[in-house]
This record gives sequence, structure tokens and C-alpha cells, in this order.
Amino acid sequence: MKIVDTHSHLNDDKLFSQVEDVVKKARNNGVEAVFNNADSFKSFDRILELQKTFPGFCYAVLGIHPEFADESDDYFDETYKFIKEHSSMVKAIGEIGLDYHFHKEPEYVQKQKRRFIEQIRLAKSLSLPIVIHSRDADKDTLDIIKEELPDKLDLHCYSGSYETLKEYLKLPIDIHIGIGGVCTFKNARVIKEVIQKAPLDIMLTETDAPYLAPVPFRGTLNEPAYIPYIIKVISELVEKDEEECASILYNNGVKFYGIK
Ligand SMILES: [Zn+2]
Repeated sequence: MKIVDTHSHLNDDKLFSQVEDVVKKARNNGVEAVFNNADSFKSFDRILELQKTFPGFCYAVLGIHPEFADESDDYFDETYKFIKEHSSMVKAIGEIGLDYHFHKEPEYVQKQKRRFIEQIRLAKSLSLPIVIHSRDADKDTLDIIKEELPDKLDLHCYSGSYETLKEYLKLPIDIHIGIGGVCTFKNARVIKEVIQKAPLDIMLTETDAPYLAPVPFRGTLNEPAYIPYIIKVISELVEKDEEECASILYNNGVKFYGIK
């Protein structure tokens, strides 16, 4: 079984401190590529270092997460400059988007939207895909995507409904959804329905490690080696042979990012 982890954070202290072992275990379980997603400007160095240490295995996705929307203009200017200068080492802009889970003050929402739009435009100017983080912000995310029409996007850890996904699929752009550990949770009714109804060729496997470990590891440290547990659940939901399903999902990841 060949696997791509399209959304991970091996740069996180908990994984980075034992990254040789984490990568070895991932490889032993069929993982051929891991896309490490940035959250802050500070995280960029480690993500690029991982790419250098594990060439052809670790890839860099750079961008600023909505939770850093309060940062200054200087901070964002410097970030965008850095990404432009390193664009040949970057596979996508992410994770970027909207997160209204903890704060929803109008001023903060405005800042998140502004930085999201700026980064979509940056991705377009560099012909890079975008990786979207959207939490409790389904409608605003969709509205911005409709307006900005990025070329290629991955709705990471997709948590919207099938109805919302249908709206995305009407757009003249390349839409993918990231499926991770949540689909293995017993009560995850919405994502299970999405997996059953959506075309398999838009799905990407991901961990969001160190977060969201799949059952039977729920609540513990997540890592790319656990993706087979996610593939197993997807294959049951789409009623396809596990190997065949894995091969389709692998090809989706390889094609989306143009690797291998
Ligand atoms: Zn993430």
C-alpha cells in the first residue's frame, strides 16, 4: 500500500523531537510523502529543514494560519517576501483560511478575511495550490473562494456538509477534500456521509498529526504511520477493496501536488 499524508505537522515539537523514528515508522507503513503545513512564520524554518533532511519525502506548505491574523502588516509583508523568495521549495500555500471557533469579533473576522484573501492571491501569482483551514466558518470560506477562484485547493480536514461540498464542486476550479482521523470516530456522521456521496477522486488522505489521531489511537499523539486506519474506514464507506481504494487515494495526492 502506497500512501501520501497531504497534511501533517512533523515540525511540531512533539513529533520533531523524535522525527527520525516517526519517518521510519511512516515509511514502514507505506507512507511515501508527507506535506508539512505551516501555521506561523516561525514554523517555516523547521518545515524547510525537514524537506532538506528527508528529500523526496517531506514537502513544504507555507502560509499563515488564521489564528495569527492579529499579527502586524510588517509580519505579513515579511512572510510574503520570504515565500516569494523560496517559492521553488514550496508545494502549496497553507494552512490558510478562517477560524471562528474561539473568537468571532467583527474586527478579528475582518482581519482573518483580509489575510486569507491576500494569501489566495499570493498562491495564484505563484501558480501554487492552497490548503484551507476552515472552522465554524463554512459560509464565509465558500463566499471568498467563489469570489477569488484560486486554481487549486484542498479543503483540509473537511468538516462541512455534502450540500456545501456540492457548492464547491460547481466552481470551475480543482477542488479536493482532506480526509483524516475524524472519519474513524463513531459519531462523525457528517464526514461519513460526505465520503459516501462525494467522488473518490477528490479525496486526499491526511493526518493533521500530531492532532486528530484515528481510532484506535484517538486522544494520543497522531503520526503519518496511522493513515492505513483512515484508508480502511474510507474503503468501507465507499464499498471498495482496501488496496484499490488506497491506490486511488495515493494517485489523488501525487497528482494534486505533482510529485513522484
Ligand atoms: Zn493542520
